[in-house]
Amino acid sequence: MNEILQQLVTMSRNLGRPERELVILGEGNTSALNPDGTFWVKASGYQLPTITADGFVRVSLERALAILREDALTDEEIKARLLDARVDPETGRWPAPNTSIRPSTETVFHALCLSLDDVAFVGHTHPIAINALTCSRGFEEAFSGRLFPDEIVMCGPAPVLIPYTDPGLPLAREIWQRINTYIDTYGERPRVILLQNHGLVALGRTAEQVENITAMMVKTARVLLGTYAVGGPHFLSTQQVDRIHTRPDEAYRRKLLGE
Ligand SMILES: [Zn+2]
Repeated sequence: MNEILQQLVTMSRNLGRPERELVILGEGNTSALNPDGTFWVKASGYQLPTITADGFVRVSLERALAILREDALTDEEIKARLLDARVDPETGRWPAPNTSIRPSTETVFHALCLSLDDVAFVGHTHPIAINALTCSRGFEEAFSGRLFPDEIVMCGPAPVLIPYTDPGLPLAREIWQRINTYIDTYGERPRVILLQNHGLVALGRTAEQVENITAMMVKTARVLLGTYAVGGPHFLSTQQVDRIHTRPDEAYRRKLLGE
């Protein structure tokens, strides 16, 4: 099996482990970039804990991104465009002959995340601890500051926060706009996207990094929930966050953690 696909299968099954409470049933989807301008993305209807290579479909990055630029597509048109974006790895036929395997409806946001600098793996989950916060009235306030150094080392200076948006193309557009604002603000691409009333997206250079970011964000969410029992979060100052984010020893640690 293709090595990238193998890593994607392992990452997906790890994210799907029931005791981690990141997804249940068909929740969540994952993707990985190939060097030839295509990417693997979970097909609709497959479950992360038991997924195999057959549960992934190979899609053209360019064709998936082209969907983002179009206005006013109906749900049926989007489905058809996603089917057209598939690549058959054996024959290079376009579209792939197996019409029963359909890319996830979230394929477009995976494509745009994978088009960012230095992103090769994406993991989207619905963790219980994180959704306890994304589904709360205090969502934005809860994630408006950083809590501890390892959170910054693994997850960057801030997450991108996305207000609740209809899944599919509208959500992909909102994510694209807010990622661009984030890059303008921080001068680098994000590692974490938090979707209000929905879940988490972890962006990594490696599969291991996606798993680490996901685990660290779940820990952050649990710590945050604890702080609300004792007066609310005490956030680090902007200077403290900048200091951790730019320290050479932290950059070294990051490298050891899969960057
Ligand atoms: Zn989702």
